[in-house]
Amino acid sequence: MQLLSIVIPAKNEAAGIGGTVRTVLAALEGLDLDVELIVVDDGSTDGTFDAVAALHREDPRVRCVALSRNFGKEAALLAGLRAASGHAVVTMDADLQHPPALIPTMVARWRAGAKVVHAVKEERPDESFSTRLRARLFNYLLEKLGDIEAEGCSDFKLLDAEVVAVLGSRMLERRRFYRGLATWVGFPQVQVGFTVGKRGAGESKFSLRMLVSLAATAIISFSATPLRIVTIFGALTLLLGLGVGGEALWSWFQGEAVSGYATIIITLLIVGSFIMISLGVIGEYIGRIYEEIKDRPSYLVKAVSGFQAASGPEGPRARTPAFPATPAAGPRLQPQDETGK
Ligand code: UDP
Ligand code: MG
Repeated sequence: MQLLSIVIPAKNEAAGIGGTVRTVLAALEGLDLDVELIVVDDGSTDGTFDAVAALHREDPRVRCVALSRNFGKEAALLAGLRAASGHAVVTMDADLQHPPALIPTMVARWRAGAKVVHAVKEERPDESFSTRLRARLFNYLLEKLGDIEAEGCSDFKLLDAEVVAVLGSRMLERRRFYRGLATWVGFPQVQVGFTVGKRGAGESKFSLRMLVSLAATAIISFSATPLRIVTIFGALTLLLGLGVGGEALWSWFQGEAVSGYATIIITLLIVGSFIMISLGVIGEYIGRIYEEIKDRPSYLVKAVSGFQAASGPEGPRARTPAFPATPAAGPRLQPQDETGK
């Protein structure tokens, strides 16, 4: 039978993770698939790992990978994709905002030939005005500056193992934007709509700062448009300068004293700011290059539950070492047998 992996990144989700795991597993009953559910504990401080380890004792299909600190949702998703051994992998949030009832439809689309099934937010009835405004602005920037189709896009996706292999072992950029990467790979892709649910328990883990940082990552890693804008602004300023300069010279030849101390100061300040902003934009790109060149792992694994180190031949769909980030490529992790040993 084919194996479906569910990957759930979780930061401080101890309060709700039990309910989420049970709801997801219940939604998958009756699907003609084996299931493994991997929670990636992204540096939680509220006992999320222990909560999942307890769930594992209840149901051995539940596994947990704990990162050594909070590396962010993008890194947690990568860790989950690498740990998953399914023929298809579903990524979803831990707070039930991504309705598990949609998974059977996504599986059906996958079985019909799609390699990537994007769940797209059609309605957000329970989200506040400010959250919606934030999302709007985020998507607008991504579309205008990053050339990324962003409207309604979410991290709720089903990926075929072939795509998982590409994302997990060939697209190794440090600063990741999962939504963009999953689209970038190509292959047959389809969309299914969903209504964003209410957060099950706890608070949103995304601050405005994190959202801005994610938008910057998305734009910088997918497009050079901001650099082009700098060039265009430079050209426009040059034209303006030629015009104004020409006029000043003309007046001078006419014997009129060129006046305008205020004009000079304002011009200097405006041009100076443009230069600083441009340097900032270029600096962002250089910063990303520096980060990539250092070649640090995207995350480190602290502990696992429900997996065991295997020395023999790898599991059913072994593609890459499960955790290349662990020392010396680390032991590959194998699902434990049903007894949980
Ligand atoms: N998350 C994570 N690491 C982080 C922040 C968030 O793994 O640093 C997880 C979080 O536990 C949840 C998912 O990412 O499962 C989405 O986060 P959240 O629901 O807080 O975001 P929102 O729905 O408000 O955008
Ligand atoms: Mg949420």
